[in-house]
Order: sequence, then C-alpha cells, then structure tokens
Amino acid sequence: MAEQAVSPMMQQYFEIKKQHPDEILFYRVGDFYEMFYDDALTASRELELTLTGKNCGKEERAPMCGVPFHSYETYVARLIAKGYKVAICEQMEDPALAKGLVKRDIIRVVTPGTVIESSMLAEDKNNYLCAIYLKKQRRSWRAGVCFADISTGEAYATELSAEKMGGAIITELCRYMPSEILINTAMLDLKDVTAYIKQHTSALVELREDACCKDSVIDAELTAQFGADWRRTCGFAEGGMVPYAVGMLLGYLKETQKHGIERIRAVQNYADAQYMRLSPVTRANLELTETMRGREKKGTLLWVLDKTETSMGKRLLRAWIEQPLVDSAAINARLDAVEALYQENVARGDLKEALGRVFDIERLTTRILYGSATPREVCALGDTCEALPQVRRIAEASTAPLLQKLAADIDPLNDILTRIRSAIGDDPPANLKDGGVIRAGYNAEVDELRDIMHGGKGFLSQMEARLREETGIPKLKIGFNKVFGYYIEVSRSYTGSVPDTFTRKQTLTTGERYITPELKDLENKILGANERLLVLEHQLFADLLSAISGEILRIQKTASAVAQLDVLASFAEVAVCNNYVKPTVDDSDVLDIAEGRHPVIEQMLKGSLFVPNDTTLDEADNRMLIITGPNMAGKSTYMRQNALIALMAQIGSFVPAASCRVGVVDAIFTRVGASDDLAAGQSTFMVEMTEVAEILEHATKNSLVILDEIGRGTSTFDGMSIARAVVEHICEKIGCKTLFATHYHELTELEQDVDGVKNYNIAVKKRGEDITFLRRIVAGPADDSYGIEVAKLAGLPSSVTRRAHEVLRQLEASAPGANASMQLDFETVHAYQNPEVPSEVVDKLKSVDVETLTPIEALNFLYELKKALAK
Ligand code: ADP
Ligand code: MG
Repeated sequence: MAEQAVSPMMQQYFEIKKQHPDEILFYRVGDFYEMFYDDALTASRELELTLTGKNCGKEERAPMCGVPFHSYETYVARLIAKGYKVAICEQMEDPALAKGLVKRDIIRVVTPGTVIESSMLAEDKNNYLCAIYLKKQRRSWRAGVCFADISTGEAYATELSAEKMGGAIITELCRYMPSEILINTAMLDLKDVTAYIKQHTSALVELREDACCKDSVIDAELTAQFGADWRRTCGFAEGGMVPYAVGMLLGYLKETQKHGIERIRAVQNYADAQYMRLSPVTRANLELTETMRGREKKGTLLWVLDKTETSMGKRLLRAWIEQPLVDSAAINARLDAVEALYQENVARGDLKEALGRVFDIERLTTRILYGSATPREVCALGDTCEALPQVRRIAEASTAPLLQKLAADIDPLNDILTRIRSAIGDDPPANLKDGGVIRAGYNAEVDELRDIMHGGKGFLSQMEARLREETGIPKLKIGFNKVFGYYIEVSRSYTGSVPDTFTRKQTLTTGERYITPELKDLENKILGANERLLVLEHQLFADLLSAISGEILRIQKTASAVAQLDVLASFAEVAVCNNYVKPTVDDSDVLDIAEGRHPVIEQMLKGSLFVPNDTTLDEADNRMLIITGPNMAGKSTYMRQNALIALMAQIGSFVPAASCRVGVVDAIFTRVGASDDLAAGQSTFMVEMTEVAEILEHATKNSLVILDEIGRGTSTFDGMSIARAVVEHICEKIGCKTLFATHYHELTELEQDVDGVKNYNIAVKKRGEDITFLRRIVAGPADDSYGIEVAKLAGLPSSVTRRAHEVLRQLEASAPGANASMQLDFETVHAYQNPEVPSEVVDKLKSVDVETLTPIEALNFLYELKKALAK
C-alpha cells in the first residue's frame, strides 16, 4: 500500500484513540475490525489472534491484528469477560461512495454492565450496572445506590443510611450481583466495600470524577431522561442521595452508548424493608442460586424451582429467590395465584405450551430500540405476539386476583403483530444484508425491483417485441455490451425506419446501435435494482424497528406480566411434581411445619427416601431449639430445610411439607459449620465470630436464626462458653426464632435455665457398636455423641475403633466428676476457666475509679495488680 494512502487513516485512528485511551479500540476497516499498537498486543494475547503489522507511514510498522466484522461479538464478549472495555469505531459512510478518507466514529463503548447482545449475556440472569454515590455528612454516611439492567430497561434504586455503611452496601451488591460498578470518589474511603468487590466479585469498578456528580450535572442528566419534573415523576425523596446515583449511571450510559438509554423509562425506588434481609453469608449458606462448592446452579433452590419456559421467567425467578417478600398480603397474592394454577392441570399445561412460544422480548425490545435487532429476531417478536392471546386467556379465566391483574397487563400487541407480519416474509434471512427480508406486497417499489432483478430479461424481450411492432423493423434487437450498456441494434437496410426517439450511439459495418430514454431507464433499473433493493429493504426494516420502538412501554408491560405468569406457573408445576403444599402465611410469630423436607436434598437423594420432620418455633416457649445428635445424623439438613421452607413461602412458592404455617420473618441469618469454610484464608474462628457478631447486631424478634455448631473453631471450653453466652443473649435480648445445632451436650442444660429453649435430637438406633441413622427429630437431648460409631460407619478399621472405645472408657473414668456420659458439668468448666483471683486484686479493682486515672496512674495501678497476683 502506498504511504500516502495509509497515513491519513492512521491519523484519524490516533485522533479517535486519544479519546479512548482505556478501551480496546475496534477500528472498522472494510470487513474487519482492526486493532493497533498496545491494543493489538493485548488483543492478540487475550484472543490468540495472529499479530501482524501495518504500514502506517512511519518507519516501523504498527503492530496490528484484526477480527472479521460479522463475528466480532464473540471476540468482544471474551475481552469483556476478561475485564476489558471495548470501543467500537464504525465507518460512518459507505467506503465506495466516500470522497477521500472514510468518516469514522465511535458508536459505542461495550463494558460488562452495558452489554445488550444476546451472545454476550446469560439468558437466565439479569446483567446489572450499578452506581453508588456516597456522601459523608459530618459523622454519618449516606449513600444512594442504583442498579439498572440495560438489556431489559429495569432500574432500581434505594437510599442507605447505616452506621455500618460498608456492610449495608455489600448487602445490596449481593442482592443484585452487578457486573460493573460505578463509584464516586468518596467510596474510595470505604475500604471494606472495595476489598469485597475485588475478592468476591468479578465486577469491573469505574471511578467517576466528582465533576460527574455535581448538582447541575445530575439535574441535567435526570431532566434529559425523565423531564424537568423528575424528582416528582421518579418519586425521589427531597434531599436524598438516590438522584446522584441514578444521574451518575445515566451520565455513564450517555458517555458509552451513543443511543438507547431511552430504554430506561422509570426507576423503581425500593426500600430495604420491602424484602427479607439476607446477608451474603446466608445466601451462600442456603445455596439459593449457586452451590457453595462448585458455584453451580444444580443443587440449589433455584435449580429445584426452575420449571420456567421463558428467559424472562428464568431471570425473574432468580430475582424473586434473591428477594423474598415480607408483606404477607403480597405473598398471599402470589400463593393464591400459584394455587389456582396448581389446581388446573389442563390450563397450566396450555399456559406452559403458550409460554414456550414466547421469546425474550424484554431484551429483544432493547435491540429493536438500538436498531441492532435482526429480521429473525423481529419475526420472533411476531411469534410471541401470536402466543399472547392464549397466555392472556388462561390467566383471565382464573379467579385469583393476581392472575386477573397480570391478564389485564398483557397487551396482545395485535397492531405490532400485523405490522411485523405484513412487512417481513416468512423465514427471513439471519442477516439484513442477505436481502429478501421484506415480504412481497408490502412495498410496491420492492416488488418492482425484485421483478426487474428476476425478470429483467423478460422486460427486455417484451420491449424488443413492442419496438419491432411499433417500428415495423423485424430484425430489431436489444443487446448489451460493457461500454455502452444496453442498446438497440438495427441492420443497415432498416436504418431509415428508425424513429426520432432513437439516439445513435455506434455505427457498425452491418448496422447502427441506438439507445432510447426508455431503454436507459430500464438499464438503470436492472443494474441498480440489487443495490437499490438492499438500501430500500434496510430503510423499510429500520422504519419497522422505529415503529415498534414507539410501542416500547406496552411491550415492556406485557413482558413483565408474562415473566410473572411464567414464574407462578413454574411454582405450580414444581408443587405438583414434588408434592408441595400451600403454606399459610400470616403476620404471626409462628413457624410450624408438619413433615417438612429439604427441597434440594430430597431431589438429590433419588431412589432413597427423605425422612420428613416436624418443626415448631415461635417467639415464646419455643424460641430456641437446641439440636444435638451425632455427626451425619442430619442436623444441618434439618435446620436448613426450615430456613428454606420459610424462604420459599415468602417468595410465594408452595413448600415441601404436609402442612405449614409461616409467620413472616424479616430476615434469615445463618452461621454454618466451621469446617465448611476452610478456604476462606482468614482464621476460621475469626470468621465465625465476626458472623456471630453480625447476627447479634442485626437480628430482630422477627428474624430466623440458624447457628450450626458455633464455637467449633476454638478450644472446647472457650467454644462452649461462647456458645452458651450467645444462646443466652439471643433468647433474652433478641427473642428471635433460633435453631441451634451443637455437639456440646452440656448446652442441653440450657433448657432448664433459659425460657423458650427446647431440646431436640436426631434419633439414632444403636445395636452393639453399630448405629443406624433414623433421621427423625425427637424431643429431648441426645444421650451420646456416637463419635466412634460414626467413625466406624465411615470405614475406620475396627482395630482402631475398638482401641478408641478403650481410650474413651479410661477418659470417662478420670474426667472431673467422673460423669459416666462424659458430660462436663458447666460449673466445673466455669471454675476451670476462671481460677480463683486473689481477693486483694478484686478489692483493688472494685475500688479504682478508672475515669479519673491519668495514664501514668493507670500504668502504676496495673503494675500493682501484677505484683499482687505474683504473691
Ligand atoms: P449433621 O449436620 O448432623 O452432621 P447432615 O445434615 O450434614 O448431618 O446430614 C448428613 C447427610 O444425611 C446428608 O447429606 C443427607 O444425605 C442425609 N440426611 C440428612 N437428613 C436426612 C433426612 N431427613 N432424610 C434422609 N437423609 C437425610
Ligand atoms: Mg452439620
């Protein structure tokens, strides 16, 4: 390539690159996106592309690599997944028509939170972009957080003002799991949040300059999006932080997306109190949407409950599981709807069949709005419209108010269907460029152009015949050559009969060649037909997209109703398949379950039967159940199943039990076995205690708390003391419903000492040295720990277990108090942990007034104490 031809383009490249130093620049050149210099080095490494060089007018060739434009999505997706951002630079005019250098511009910056291509998104998960605006006002922190899914147009925002702001923000992040997080500079001081994001998420963090958060800028963003009256129309509280977060997010979108942010039409303000509080740890422990070990869907509550038909339903189901409700009326509305669908097997089947024909119109609408939808996708919207009347009819036929409401929200979108069907042919090509998208009969010019293209020869022979007749020249011929195009040839003997309208073009020995305006017209048509047809089809398709875009609110509302129906039908289907019952949900303080089962383990067991168990918990006499039993008896399973049943009820699902009553719980807390999080890196005991501290701080009377073997991470006596103190605190100060599994038999004494504590154990049958797990929960403490028997079950050689029994007998004989069952008396333990303190020291301590001590006096005092002890 000549030097002069290349350099101006590279100049243009540098101009554009200057504005996007942090992104990998995909620079459109013909049929490729090319990358240069550092971008090329990075991309070739990350995408395993061949690195070449481009002559750029300088001495050294520029490192370069490229990807074909038609498959760029997969490459962008891989870069995004690796944490890069990609700026897409397009040719803004047709290179064939451009005079000089082709105009180019950035049309979009693709970032993890702004992806809309279905190939880059998980269909069953929302993809959230998050903005956090933090402000320190004297001593209190306040924050606005906003989560938006650009691919569906949903946006949620809330205001946080907590003493422990870090924890509150992390809780919100866990709720939505954003893939990209915008923060203002004040957020840099919240080290716990930034550390959390780095360690526990793969989200990209983007620091927004203070200039982006100025009042005037925020006001301008919100005005542009929602009108001058945004504060009222969006329902933002006066003086709140939410507008800053929303404004920050909109500003970022405007910067990165040249268009399409109009998809966000409203922001839902949610209050923390609308949903059950679930700490990040609890979400993980209960394995709601991913397993602890493999982080997979299989083996989670989501996995059990997902019998949805649509991607929209899948995403909503996940969202519902992540956010159980606390309003019993709202919960019962869902439960009644599920019940209606549960009872009507035929209707449910029909509904699911119809839902199966519904495409992901939520995300499709976004691509239609962006103008990037393909003809096939628009056809899919048509197919969806065809399924809507059936969906609506079934919902309408039910008496459940929620189903009625959803039916009313479903707009059959008839006009859109008609429009799509009339404009687009059956079975359109995947790509608009391939032509043949517009249906015959939709547009007269398209039809004519197609006729010309396909029947061009016919036109010519028709014209030839007509001309022969008109002129009376029998041998008149229409021919074609490259120089003159189409011409009329008349042999020499007839040139005299040629009419005036013919213009002579060429003289041959045998005759003359002419053209006429009519022939030129036809020639232009034939030669230009293909090109013109493509342009016209493009135009008509774009018109169709923008017409559909105008109806976006109706589509969005319909999509949301369909998604809800899908989830409700899924709940009903699961309830039928897995034999669930409708729970009674009210505002009582009771959790009463007859024959409850663990929803996931019962599915995993396959073949062997899950043993159901009862539970009675309230905020009075049965506040705390202390559950003992040997390892592997089923303590953890039992406790989690109760938490899961309460949670399932509060998302509106039926539950695995024979009958069940759930007084709404405001939060579930879990602290699960130290052995389970060895990988955490931190000392497990520290982790455990931090989590217990959090529970004690945040649990209320209406919470459900699960403590699984706390105190395990330290020495027996320490652990037991802590466990006991925690139990006392929860029972006396908080009064919440609590399930407490422990292998400290000593703790079963608490039943006598503390109101509301009840002992239970998971029964095992002992025969000789062998035991069988009965999996039954029964009242009363376990009588033994059966550690050695369990070890035997696990396959420890019998010589070892026999010796263990011997050692145990010796230990029991020599234990303090020689208690036969080796239960340590709590008083003894206490004394052991607190050896007599000389009374002199105690007296000194009692008499000192700490407030008035100077540091020096305090040091002296300490010195004296030590001396007294040493005596
Ligand atoms: P623990 O916490 O007492 O050590 P787990 O709750 O971990 O015991 O249970 C151990 C195993 O026992 C579980 O993985 C499960 O396979 C089985 N199990 C527990 N409860 C039941 C039950 N009710 N019915 C059938 N199998 C159960
Ligand atoms: Mg356990």
